[in-house]
Amino acid sequence: MNAPVHSGQRQRTCRACGKKFDYPVKGGAATRHHCEDCVAVPPDTRKILERLHQRIAQLERRLASPPPPK
Ligand SMILES: [Zn+2]
Repeated sequence: MNAPVHSGQRQRTCRACGKKFDYPVKGGAATRHHCEDCVAVPPDTRKILERLHQRIAQLERRLASPPPPK
């Protein structure tokens, strides 16, 4: 049986920008949680990006589900 790609195995979602990236990549700078773009961002700034990304993800989830009845 052909199992789909396990999430958390090769394709990862960047915590800071939400980009999907392959990990590990030979010679790549990306880490488990950050794509190679965000790895270059200073940790303090990245923390802010992560916070904003969380917020966006939250808002997207809210948009995806129908509004609760009043
Ligand atoms: Zn990123």
